[in-house]
Amino acid sequence: MIAELISVGTEILLGNIVNTNAAFLSEKCAQLGLSLYYQTVVGDNPERLRETLTLALGRSDLVILGGGLGPTQDDLTKEIAAQVFGRVLKEDPHTRERIEGFFKLRGTKPEEITENNWKQALAPEGAVIVDNENGTAPGLILEGNGKTAILLPGPPNEMIPMFNQKIFPYLREKQPEIIVSEMIKICGIGESRVESMISDLIAAQNNPTVATYAKTGEVHLRVTAKAGNEAEARKLIKPMVRELKVRFGNKIYSTEEHVTLEEAVVSLLKEGGMSLTTVESCTGGLFTGRLVNVQGASEVLKQGFITYSNKSKRKLVGVKKLTLKEFGAVSEKTAREMAKGARMVTGSDVSVSITGLAGPDGGTEEKPVGLVYIAVAVKDNMKVQEYRFSGNRAKIRESAVVAALTQLRMSILENIQL
Ligand code: ATP
Ligand code: MG
Repeated sequence: MIAELISVGTEILLGNIVNTNAAFLSEKCAQLGLSLYYQTVVGDNPERLRETLTLALGRSDLVILGGGLGPTQDDLTKEIAAQVFGRVLKEDPHTRERIEGFFKLRGTKPEEITENNWKQALAPEGAVIVDNENGTAPGLILEGNGKTAILLPGPPNEMIPMFNQKIFPYLREKQPEIIVSEMIKICGIGESRVESMISDLIAAQNNPTVATYAKTGEVHLRVTAKAGNEAEARKLIKPMVRELKVRFGNKIYSTEEHVTLEEAVVSLLKEGGMSLTTVESCTGGLFTGRLVNVQGASEVLKQGFITYSNKSKRKLVGVKKLTLKEFGAVSEKTAREMAKGARMVTGSDVSVSITGLAGPDGGTEEKPVGLVYIAVAVKDNMKVQEYRFSGNRAKIRESAVVAALTQLRMSILENIQL
């Protein structure tokens, strides 16, 4: 079933409010397996709203309209929808009673209710009236010529509960096909390489489909299937997920939608019964902060050093004066000594060090901005990697954090297998 959204309100066009209702409704349409092809924003203008609704009903089976159901002059969604469906507006006694009840509950006297409020009790003839539990304007469902229009109030605190409680079940019945998706989360391979590794699957895809999403240092693949019920959809997804697991192997850190890379890393450390010490220069605590995002990080994280100056690198983690003089703070040797020292000082099983040039100043031809060295020591196994990141200071630091998580993860995996 093809669906379409129309958000009504000049304040959305002017940018005074953000169209959060559209984001909410789009996500729900996806969950319901509706094909959402268009979203429109139109101001509180009768001609343009009529034109927009007519066009939408011409190309979609279902049109969801939001806003403009209130009591004021500029609220005209219901009036225009009635015209387009060729219905007259009639007062609905049940809604009138509910509006009276709503005001009574708030302590408003009947004579204080302004006349324009009763406009909200008018409904197009033959419309299904959807009670509003959090406001006065009810939602409306209009059906005709094989098309459906659903009119919802604008305020999110009214629209969201109404949608979840009443519209979602109504649409679920209308559109019994459902959508189920699974996420494959990959780290340590760039987006274009991931795409090229699955280009054949993407070219041949039908049901399920595979979509790629790139984040800094990570690529997520969403496998989505449509079917009559959840079990059937999962059955369709399964072989594709299996194939992706074969192709990406241990570069997949999770197949759970909500699991983050830092959570996967903390879990691995816990599984291995390993304690961790961090020592950061250019990331200035950002890496340790990411780990501490994870509930229960205290079970594995022993200590974090921020050694921003050369002096602190020497004093806190024992980097040699000569190393700093000969190779510089941003060097493989310094990274190595930082990680080694951090492990020795705290007696932890694992240590991670990060040193690099986040810029924008201080780069040279030999050591450009974006050059970062990351060392991971798992017991006596030390691995140092050089990276060359691009982007501004924030981007370089974030890239370094994700690379450190990825490198740490791989080192633990290698050492657990040993
Ligand atoms: P009311 O009875 O409050 O007039 P209504 O159904 O007529 O409700 P609007 O007048 O269009 O709806 O919008 C009322 C308020 O709801 C807006 O000022 C805004 O705060 C919120 N709102 C409307 N549309 C959206 C939207 N698309 N996304 C987020 N908020 C919205
Ligand atoms: Mg309004």
